[in-house]
Amino acid sequence: MSEPVDTRLSGRHVVVTGGARGIGRGIATRCARSGADVSIFDLRPSVAEETAAEIRDIGGAASVHEVDVTDADAVEDAVAAAESALGPIDGLVNNAGVQQSISILETTEDEWDRHFDVNAKGTFLVSKRVAERMIETKTRGSIVNVASVGADRPFRGQGAYGASKAAVVTFTTVLAKELADHGITANSIKPGTIDTPMVQQWLEERAAESDATEDELLAETIDEHVLDRIGKPEEIGHAAVWLLSAEGEWVTGESIAVDGGYLKG
Ligand code: NAD
Repeated sequence: MSEPVDTRLSGRHVVVTGGARGIGRGIATRCARSGADVSIFDLRPSVAEETAAEIRDIGGAASVHEVDVTDADAVEDAVAAAESALGPIDGLVNNAGVQQSISILETTEDEWDRHFDVNAKGTFLVSKRVAERMIETKTRGSIVNVASVGADRPFRGQGAYGASKAAVVTFTTVLAKELADHGITANSIKPGTIDTPMVQQWLEERAAESDATEDELLAETIDEHVLDRIGKPEEIGHAAVWLLSAEGEWVTGESIAVDGGYLKG
């Protein structure tokens, strides 16, 4: 069993949506390395069990809940089940998201709605239910929403995606103001390009619609980051742990780029 790297989240129960793979898995396991118990909300429960196994190996408790974050009833049930399994929720990371690279002229109404349903409405529904429970249980909690640098500096093909992530940033600002009196903070993180299955798919989609290969497109993307590489899922986890811990207690309504300098490029 590997040891936690610190104890900043010791005794805390953190919910991570979309924690089955990619950035969500990086956040969930990084939280566990700081001592947290973690509930994973995801559409892919069998993959989420692999994240849960990693968390248990680190020494934390983990519970997996199959839930579509766009379904309010399912979210309510999952929050109740997570509380039964691991106790009152101290931290929430809304990370579940979808992205498709498609030009605005080719975007269908369904594709537009899917981005806003998962990325924006999902963040709203889970934040609302968890905040209600934090208030009822008098928990001084912290909510972290995973937005994207695409909210500020989107690529072509990110019309629906970038707009839905800008909605997450704005929503988080209001959440911070409205929950402050309850001792709850809310912030967003804007990752740059991170090595995940979503980015693999994004490179495939862009390669299919251009003359460039996936490797050439990846090299171009890397070039856009001042630090000359793409990021790793746990690097978003480091920022999430800080915001979820007592060290982040005086930070709220903020949107933090963790992007290897992409927004400065
Ligand atoms: P990913 O596709 O690899 O993983 C997303 C996870 O979310 C999956 O486990 C999936 O099952 C889950 N999910 C999707 N829809 C869901 C739903 N309706 N209900 C519950 N779970 C659902 O993606 P990723 O790259 O790890 O991205 C995670 C988050 O980070 C997303 O919000 C994404 O927009 C954001 N982001 C990613 C990058 C990047 O470069 N990878 C950059 C900026 C922002």
